[in-house]
Amino acid sequence: MIPVIALVGRPNVGKSTMFNRLTRSRDAIVANYSGLTRDRKYGEVQLDDHRFILIDTGGISGEEEGIDTVMAGQSLQAIEEADIVLFMVSARDGLTAADYMIAKELRQRGKKTYLVANKIDGMDPDIALAPFYELGLGEVFATTATHGRGVKSMVESVLEQIPPAAEPEQEPAPKGIKMAIVGRPNVGKSTLVNRMLGEDRVVVYDLPGTTRDSIYIQYERFGKAYTIIDTAGVRRRKNVSLAVEKFSIVKTLQAIGDANVVILVIDASEGVVEQDLHLMGTVIEQGRALVVALNKWDGLEDSHKQYVKNEIDRRLRFVDFANIHYISALHGTGVGDLYKSVEQAYQSATDKMSTSFLTQILQDAVSEHQPPMINGRRIKLRYAHAGGNNPPVIVVHGNQTAKVPAHYVRYLEKTFRRALNLRGTPVRVEFKSSE
Ligand code: GDP
Ligand code: GDP
Repeated sequence: MIPVIALVGRPNVGKSTMFNRLTRSRDAIVANYSGLTRDRKYGEVQLDDHRFILIDTGGISGEEEGIDTVMAGQSLQAIEEADIVLFMVSARDGLTAADYMIAKELRQRGKKTYLVANKIDGMDPDIALAPFYELGLGEVFATTATHGRGVKSMVESVLEQIPPAAEPEQEPAPKGIKMAIVGRPNVGKSTLVNRMLGEDRVVVYDLPGTTRDSIYIQYERFGKAYTIIDTAGVRRRKNVSLAVEKFSIVKTLQAIGDANVVILVIDASEGVVEQDLHLMGTVIEQGRALVVALNKWDGLEDSHKQYVKNEIDRRLRFVDFANIHYISALHGTGVGDLYKSVEQAYQSATDKMSTSFLTQILQDAVSEHQPPMINGRRIKLRYAHAGGNNPPVIVVHGNQTAKVPAHYVRYLEKTFRRALNLRGTPVRVEFKSSE
């Protein structure tokens, strides 16, 4: 499981500057879930070999009334969801009463916390850092978020401390295709999960971890095993912390990461909204197979349906590899058909691809459309082999491959997709150069 780190601290200490610096290389994948997480921002960070989810919180001013409210709301949420808290203070401001209060709260919560003294630029570290040791949080990392100084080494030290993910104990790994049911709140995820499970006997895996983790539900349908990764909390574990809202972005991101196939649920009565597109972008970026379920189709006037379909097709053109289903989780209409697309997407995502066939496709593609000349020399693409599955990766060998233009990469992707009959999964073409 990918670790989750939360930035916590007073306003103005540099949390969002730090967030932007760390997520800069890749856009924050799930920015601004307005209305859900008013003041939290989520980003995915790739730093060398490390990958983690970073949460930025609006800030705790320390002027909130009473201890409960200090940690109430969004900061508490972020802390609960996180494996690690980076408690940021400002070296420039020195230690403040609010810092004291926040530190005390964090110690009481027992969450692994690291102290980061930001805005160290222009200061003498020995003098500036000394007061912060009083907080009793151990080593103080000094950073300048605006220029990045100390940031990388701080993150590396912190990530080193994360223990390897606990293996699920006695439980055998969940069987069958792993399907994550994801979507915004109220689109009908729980209704769909219940509908898909029907009367079937199910085994619920309560994987060890925190309350932010999804529940794994294993079941059989016509003798075939499936596992639903339930982000909606249908079969909720006992003792679930009420503080954690039903919809959690971290949970959704992790479910997507762990699934073979994602069923993305959209509320047809509301149409495709930006958050749906964000989620879809995440699914593609992670290379997961995708099935789209336009739910609550029963609620639409017949005269309106064709218009809505056209509109949705238009907006979802960038995921035209995925099947779109118009369903009613409430009445069960169209739910059975989802399985066909799930199976197809899974097959496409995991089928073996032979080197000889891939090479044949490549050579046909090249003779159909030559790659361009670069400085008077033609790019040569010679052979191709499989480099992984779910998503399928096709590695193309040749020379000057670093110069293959984006439109030609898309052409190859399209050609491989068509020739291999890949439906429901992203496909990746990568290059290896022999010079
Ligand atoms: P947040 O409220 O904690 O998210 O703080 P911001 O990231 O919005 O930063 C508040 C102000 O401090 C902005 O004007 C930043 O440019 C500035 N700032 C952030 N990091 C540094 C730093 O390392 N050094 C200096 N000198 N200023 C910084
Ligand atoms: P979740 O938050 O995504 O898990 O959404 P729920 O499954 O809790 O559903 C939210 C609301 O939408 C509930 O009132 C459901 O009864 C309703 N709902 C779910 N699926 C459908 C559907 O197919 N048609 C209609 N009309 N309502 C639905």
